[in-house]
Amino acid sequence: MPGKADVAIVGAGIAALALAVELQNNGISTILLERQKSPEGIPRGLTFQPNGLAVLEKLGALERAKEVGSASQILEVKNWDGEVLLEADYGLLDHPQNYLLTANATEVERLLVYLAEKAGAKLLWGSSFQELTMSGGKVDGVVFETDGMRDQIQAAVVVGADGPQSRIRNSIGVKVKTRKYPDSFLVGLAGAIPGLEGRARQYQHPGKMLGIMPSGPEATYFFYCVGPRSFDSVKKEGLTSFRAEVVQAAPEMADAFTGVEAWTRMAYFTPSFIRVDRWVGNGVALLGDSAHTIHPHAGQGVNLALEDAVALAETIDKCKVAGDFSQASLLQYQKERKTRAEVIGKHANYTVTYALSDNWLIKRLNRRALRKLNKDKKLQKKALEITAGIFEKKPGLVTLAKIGGILP
Ligand SMILES: Cc1cc2nc3c(=O)[nH]c(=O)nc-3n(C[C@H](O)[C@H](O)[C@H](O)COP(=O)(O)OP(=O)(O)OC[C@H]3O[C@@H](n4cnc5c(N)ncnc54)[C@H](O)[C@@H]3O)c2cc1C
Repeated sequence: MPGKADVAIVGAGIAALALAVELQNNGISTILLERQKSPEGIPRGLTFQPNGLAVLEKLGALERAKEVGSASQILEVKNWDGEVLLEADYGLLDHPQNYLLTANATEVERLLVYLAEKAGAKLLWGSSFQELTMSGGKVDGVVFETDGMRDQIQAAVVVGADGPQSRIRNSIGVKVKTRKYPDSFLVGLAGAIPGLEGRARQYQHPGKMLGIMPSGPEATYFFYCVGPRSFDSVKKEGLTSFRAEVVQAAPEMADAFTGVEAWTRMAYFTPSFIRVDRWVGNGVALLGDSAHTIHPHAGQGVNLALEDAVALAETIDKCKVAGDFSQASLLQYQKERKTRAEVIGKHANYTVTYALSDNWLIKRLNRRALRKLNKDKKLQKKALEITAGIFEKKPGLVTLAKIGGILP
């Protein structure tokens, strides 16, 4: 029996690893269960916003993340003809990390694995969650399986950091609202694009979207909307046709794309918007995508997850001092984080709906909104504070309507 820990975390994604580092640094013993055998995955980029960068700094991971990734201060939005609609300048933000950082997700995970293990966390790779154990109406551990063998861990609190399809979430019976988006995406890493340094670029057109972001010394992260097509139907059209489709929107991708020689170098996914009614139960808490899955267009999922990790570590610390891991005690974490995640999730939802819609009115409003933000730096700063996850007060309807181009 691998035994006992203060905290058992199911999943060893970025949120779980960040939580493990924080907990161990506070002297709270942690075991992580991860069904994958290692952090290796399909090469993809991940964009960190100022709120997530502040957490990476707190964890002692920012400098190394900067070495493996690329910082961009400008987020440029262009239409399909290459006309610039918006140059959003993160330099306007009053924040020490007033830039975006895009890096290979696997590299960041490896870095956090290193920090978590160095702090003393125990990682069990190839171990899948099976069920929660309960005592006196409270979760007190997990049963898991490694190579067909069942085993158990006893813990004062179990954290479900097992992503959008969370089984911990199902086990505790929270109410889940899921919205599946109609458009799917292909993502991957291509070669470097000369001249793109310091800039993240997005092309928008009704039903189409292409994001290209420098992601490390020799790489560009691309994020391409294939609309309602399945992966099989895109594959049937052939890699040459897919490359031509992307390069037609962004001619600067031509050389960078030559290294992308196989479909296995890309990941296909259909985003969802998942919200739950509560994040905690007796002896259990949800973290990151298991508590909130949002459209990646906003580039906030991992950043919210990192902030959740810090907040949950603080709450667990207080629970440990009080010797009380009941739902009522863990609720502090939910109070701190849930509303914020909902504001950002809704923002991601309407910005992507706006950007991809072919409704003529929404299309006009979107263009108008982007051009207005380009001119009005004060409003641009407000909009960026939401995108960057660093707003202080929940933005009011009037502010949102101004940002959305509905009000002058
Ligand atoms: C293509 C794509 C691009 C994205 N781009 C961005 C971006 O640029 N910026 C951004 O902020 N966000 C982005 N996101 C969202 C971001 O990746 C997620 O919000 C973030 O990774 C959530 O982290 P997590 O640790 O909560 O979950 P995950 O990263 O999903 O980790 C969950 C872990 O749990 C493990 N697991 C699941 N079930 C079990 C089980 N039963 N037993 C044991 N282990 C289990 C999984 O193997 C996995 O390792 C993107 C998402 C996608 C899909």
